[in-house]
Amino acid sequence: MQLTILGCHSASPKSNAHPTAQVLEIKGHLFLIDCGEGTQVRLRQHKVKFSRIKHIFISHLHGDHVFGLLGLITTFGLLNRKESLTLHGPLGVKEFVETQLRLSGSYLSYQVYYNELSSSDSELIFEDEGVYVKTIPLKHRIYTNGFHFEEKLGERKLNYQKAVDLEINPVYFNKLKQSKNVVSERGEEINYKDVTEDPDPPKSYSFCSDTSYSPEIIPHIYKTNLLYHESTFLSSASHEDLAYKTGHSTALHAGLIARKAKAKKLLLGHFSARYKNLDAFVNEAQEVFEPVEHAHTGMQIDIN
Ligand SMILES: [Zn+2]
Ligand SMILES: [Zn+2]
Repeated sequence: MQLTILGCHSASPKSNAHPTAQVLEIKGHLFLIDCGEGTQVRLRQHKVKFSRIKHIFISHLHGDHVFGLLGLITTFGLLNRKESLTLHGPLGVKEFVETQLRLSGSYLSYQVYYNELSSSDSELIFEDEGVYVKTIPLKHRIYTNGFHFEEKLGERKLNYQKAVDLEINPVYFNKLKQSKNVVSERGEEINYKDVTEDPDPPKSYSFCSDTSYSPEIIPHIYKTNLLYHESTFLSSASHEDLAYKTGHSTALHAGLIARKAKAKKLLLGHFSARYKNLDAFVNEAQEVFEPVEHAHTGMQIDIN
């Protein structure tokens, strides 16, 4: 599983500070998470194949998370895309997109499906044989969800050579991977544990975009492999009041959430432009949790 940061700053974009957008590669999927202004340009810079994006997850309808959406989906149309696209986002995301398409006279060559969200409880919003995605209800000025992406436990791993040496008919290989004993060509009962190994433990990624300090989210992100948590402000700069008033968190808040959730690693983002030194965010969160890093545009992280 690999995460690429396309943007991790709040509010107004600058030449080297882009609003929120990320790409998560998980079990063959390429999920786009939030779509701040200019996302399509940064997807190009990172050579992400547009046709591989089939699902976009939008946390909320503030501009720094969604103003890149129209540009991206109309470019998909210019490229004559045929495959459908599913947009998971707050109730209103359909109106947001379709109003702009209508007023700009834009035409899409493909179908857009809308999975509009309005529940204040966590919901399962995507599932296939390898992955599931659940919402993380967040506390912000408007309706906002984070997203928890988790792999499913895979099949056991077959020791192919051992299976051949034991004269097991290859038609039984899938049974072994599914923890079933089989009989070899020699008539011997073979215990699946003798020719297979445990599957890799499933990995998870939790994306918590804009939110006030909210320990209520901990059951939804418990023991996650990587927690991305916004840290717009610094407690050490006495900006906790500002965080509270604007529905945001400080780096200390993010560290406390990571500690309570027993996350394996914390990644900070959504920095206010008032701070010049991002190391201050890491230092503040490190007082209560390690390991922690600050995100930066172009960052790629293997989640393990
Ligand atoms: Zn934001
Ligand atoms: Zn916001």
